[in-house]
Amino acid sequence: MTVMYALLALSLGIAVGLVVIVVEELRWEARNRLPRCTTCGQLHNRHAAHR
Ligand SMILES: [Zn+2]
Repeated sequence: MTVMYALLALSLGIAVGLVVIVVEELRWEARNRLPRCTTCGQLHNRHAAHR
């Protein structure tokens, strides 16, 4: 029984780790994707300088 619980805890930990990795990857992707500027229509950071 103890072995079963250990395996369960191990697999649970691995699943949580994978979810955390995927979420971090998605957040990194979203942060690195440049938004389209509404002022000049080009792709650059939102708070870039305009004249
Ligand atoms: Zn712009």
